Amino acid sequence: MAQCVFCRIASHGIPAAMVLETEQAVSFLDINPVNPGHALVVPRRHASSLLELTDEELHTLITMARRVAAAACGATGSRAFNILQNDGEAAGQVVPHAHLHVIPRSPKDGFSFGWRQLPYGEGELAALQQAVRQRL
Ligand code: AMP
Ligand code: ZN
Repeated sequence: MAQCVFCRIASHGIPAAMVLETEQAVSFLDINPVNPGHALVVPRRHASSLLELTDEELHTLITMARRVAAAACGATGSRAFNILQNDGEAAGQVVPHAHLHVIPRSPKDGFSFGWRQLPYGEGELAALQQAVRQRL
């Protein structure tokens, strides 16, 4: 995908603060970081969703994310990190090329998910358990 910004970064068509490159994936610093050292881990092959990646590609991606997390934490003095992924517009995905976020964290860094958790209605949990199990 020639127009895709992450494809262009992966092929060095546009610049990025690259930190790691392998045959299958690249990692570079996010241009608008949640925290300093916030990095993205991106497969070279264009795919918009994690669901389109092979198991091997996903393995490469998470392995690289762990490696980058250790380095980014070392570089920023962080002792905690999040690995996040937004898959689909409703989940907050803006760049339609699958990627993992690696975000070094520190106490009181002001980043909060702010997510709310709701109880299931009567019978709902069991029904969903069945529905999911049938698809696996
Ligand atoms: P997402 O919402 O998961 O699709 O996240 C996309 C991320 O890509 C955002 O955090 C952006 O700041 C980041 N981003 C977009 N363009 C660039 C770029 N040219 N270089 C580095 N990071 C970028
Ligand atoms: Zn792409």
